[in-house]
Amino acid sequence: MTPDDFLRSIPKAELHCHFVGAVPAQVAWDLAQRNGVELPVDGPETLYHYGHFYDFIERYMLIATAIRTVEDFDEAVYAVLEEGYRHGNVQYREMFFNPTDHALGGATYPVMLEGLRRGVARAREDFGVECKLIPSINRQHSPAAALEMVREVVANPCDEVVGIGLDASEPAGPPELFADAYRLAGEHGLKRAAHAAEDYSGIVDGPPANILTCLDLLGCDRIDHGYNMFVDPEVVERLRREQTPINVCLPGSSADLRPMRSVAIRRMIDAGLNVSLHSDDPAMHRVTPGETYVIASKILWLSLDEMVALDLAAIDAAWLDDAGKERLRTTFTEQIEALRAKVA
Ligand SMILES: [Zn+2]
Repeated sequence: MTPDDFLRSIPKAELHCHFVGAVPAQVAWDLAQRNGVELPVDGPETLYHYGHFYDFIERYMLIATAIRTVEDFDEAVYAVLEEGYRHGNVQYREMFFNPTDHALGGATYPVMLEGLRRGVARAREDFGVECKLIPSINRQHSPAAALEMVREVVANPCDEVVGIGLDASEPAGPPELFADAYRLAGEHGLKRAAHAAEDYSGIVDGPPANILTCLDLLGCDRIDHGYNMFVDPEVVERLRREQTPINVCLPGSSADLRPMRSVAIRRMIDAGLNVSLHSDDPAMHRVTPGETYVIASKILWLSLDEMVALDLAAIDAAWLDDAGKERLRTTFTEQIEALRAKVA
């Protein structure tokens, strides 16, 4: 077994992955055909070839609105979990989905939830994969829509839904706008994460102060992305001291973001931060969770032991109870050791 095969094969816990961005192109294409959603391409082969960030967002929204019925959600999430299992051995997931995006296609929250839970249950049955769900606020929609979304979430409690998230363009929706929605989620025992200080690319910029707002005002116990933290050394020092989990992603095809992110991630690791690595929108970025690990090991100059450490850090950051984490750590460690013995 080559080192790359090892990285593809080790069991993984994926904590930062968007449902829509992970739907395989063929499945997304079929759903769009079925529901009469016109796509700006001739076929599934080119569906995930897009230009700049706004093309990506446009495709993302088209696919979100093409997933409409219980059966659609069931089929799509099953395909996502099968893909992650077969191409990266993702055995545990906490996956974002954006209720207010899917609502634009006509789906109600109970319909989304029913379909997602069915697909999750089928994937558990067929592949032994565990998947929790994170309804995520699209910050480009209004704070009132976010509050309404959380009301729906708390009115429909279930074992799969463990917390909420916040994503999309950070300048359009700074975290303080969503304090009410986060407070309500916290009152109902939901965990909280948010995309913060995501980039400084000129597209999705967010200042390091957004990280502090997420921790102190929104009650987040982990941060998604956070690359822009290095503008403020005090923020970096606090994250190091408190060992706040930072869930980072290295985009596969967004070549413009990759250099900036790789430098930031390497600096986080070198600074002793609590980092774990995830695939974000794997299908839309035309990577797999397995390939994400291979790419990261090369770009970040990380040894296999360092990659394993990133992998296990995701278990510590997961929204599982201690017994759940221990169970996952034991099975992962056993499988990793068995694979390690086969590496040439
Ligand atoms: Zn994300």
